Amino acid sequence: MINRVNERRRGARDRRLEASAAHTAATQTLAARETEVRAGEHAADQREGVADQREGAADQREGAADQREETANLRQEAADLREEVADLREEAAKAEEALSLLNAAHMREANERLIVATIHAQTMTEAAEQATAQMAYVAKHDFLTGLPNRSLLSDRLEQAIALARRHGKRLALMYLDLDHFKHINDSLGHAVGDELLQSAAKRLQACVRHSDTVSRQGGDEFVVLLSEVEAAQDAAHSAEKLLKTMAEPHLIGGHRLHVTLSIGISIYPDDGKDSDTMVRNADTAMYHAKNKGRNNYQRFTPDMNARAVARQSVEMALRRALEQREFVLHYQPKVNLETGAITGAEALVRLQQADRSLVGPTEFVSIAEDCGLILPLGKWVLREACRQTAAWLQAGLDVGQIAVNISAQEFHNKDFLAGVRAILNDTGLDPRHLELEVTESGLMQDTEPTMGLLHALNDLGVQIAVDDFGTGYSSLSYLRRFPIDTLKIDQSFVKDMDGNADEAIISAIIAMGKSLNLRVVAEGIETPQQLAFLKTQHCAEGQGYIFSQPVAAKDFAVLLAGERP
Ligand code: C2E
Ligand code: MG
Ligand code: MG
Repeated sequence: MINRVNERRRGARDRRLEASAAHTAATQTLAARETEVRAGEHAADQREGVADQREGAADQREGAADQREETANLRQEAADLREEVADLREEAAKAEEALSLLNAAHMREANERLIVATIHAQTMTEAAEQATAQMAYVAKHDFLTGLPNRSLLSDRLEQAIALARRHGKRLALMYLDLDHFKHINDSLGHAVGDELLQSAAKRLQACVRHSDTVSRQGGDEFVVLLSEVEAAQDAAHSAEKLLKTMAEPHLIGGHRLHVTLSIGISIYPDDGKDSDTMVRNADTAMYHAKNKGRNNYQRFTPDMNARAVARQSVEMALRRALEQREFVLHYQPKVNLETGAITGAEALVRLQQADRSLVGPTEFVSIAEDCGLILPLGKWVLREACRQTAAWLQAGLDVGQIAVNISAQEFHNKDFLAGVRAILNDTGLDPRHLELEVTESGLMQDTEPTMGLLHALNDLGVQIAVDDFGTGYSSLSYLRRFPIDTLKIDQSFVKDMDGNADEAIISAIIAMGKSLNLRVVAEGIETPQQLAFLKTQHCAEGQGYIFSQPVAAKDFAVLLAGERP
């Protein structure tokens, strides 16, 4: 039994040992298992973590890939953008280049324009300055001669007077007028006239000192201001010098022209204390020089003013006489020198004053021409002569041909021809009984229109006489071309016939008239010697005191009736 118990015990123990071992082993196994489980768990966890990590990594990789893709995309985009930028830059560069080329071109063009504009502006400024200077010059100078004009003279005269007053000095003013300039202008034309004025201006300037002023007042009138004279005698010396210089022939357009001067002088302060009075008085003295026969000088004297006043009063008298019909016509017979028969008459105007005394035309015709009254006066004369002639013819008096003087101003008036027609029409006078006397200078003016007018008058049947022939500058070729009927030898040749030269002129005019188929009438025959000479030269007709003075209409009718019973 012990053994059994022991055995049992041993068995138990063994069993216990076994169980414990088993337990231990189980425990150990469990622990191991637990450890294993835990390890498995851990490993699973780890695997899970790894998986997660992997998943994360995959995600990351995926994200990275995405990012990479994105980055690549971005890169691409950036590249694209860069390309775009590069393109743009290129374009910009190109544009810039084009722009800069364009700009350069524009700049160049603008520059050029600027330069041109600047030059233009400069030129314009210069031109404007020049124009202003020129205008100022023109305003103060005469366009034809370049001399100071009336306005500049007036300035200088006033300054000179102020200076002379301050220093107690004298100065002289000379008013100059070319003698018979109108004749030259009318007969040789305005171009020759203009050149003569220029030539005269040069000579005047050459005669005076630098400090003196030569100015042109207009027409053929000049004024010379001698700014310093000691005595009146100095001005007289200067005037003599001017007369002498001017008298030398002027060679113009193939002509040798002789022209003289009439000079009036006024001295400051003796003859005027202000510029207006100085000029006016020198002008008055100049008229005096004209009346004294021209080609001389006259110093102003107070009594000359009376003449100027008289001139004005003549103008007033003419106006009144026209209104109140105070003019009368006298008739001077024209005579056939061979037979002594009256061939007609010249109508000569007179002004009949209240006391019935007559004023001759030399007193007023030139004044009437100056103030334009010659037009109405001439019209009256023509109408009255035609009326009277028609009346004589109607009364059975064979008056022949009545000559009427026509001044150049009337003849060249645009209404002249119409006026002649109307008067002939109104008075019923046959045009064959009318002859118009025009002076040489009147005829030679505006030769082309004159030609037309002469032909028109010729067509009307009116005759034309050249009055005072030999005193003007007739162009002989025009004499041949103009339809003219009569030459009237100026009475100055007949008057001075004793001198051989004048006889030669008369003979030449008569011969020329004949060869041109013109009637020749000698004027101013007073003496039997003159008549005899003219007869030997076969002058066809004559007029003069030897036959009759100009007489009133009724006396002329008596003359005619006496001659033609
Ligand atoms: P004219 O046409 O040459 O007239 C001749 C002038 O000589 C007239 O002077 C006449 O009276 C004058 N006369 C005639 N025979 C002699 C003579 O034998 N000896 C002298 N010494 N003289 C003589 P009048 O009437 O004084 O006329 C002078 C000038 O006035 C005229 O010269 C003419 O140019 C102009 N005239 C006269 N009447 C008119 C007119 O109605 N109209 C125009 N525009 N001028 C006229
Ligand atoms: Mg006459
Ligand atoms: Mg005459």
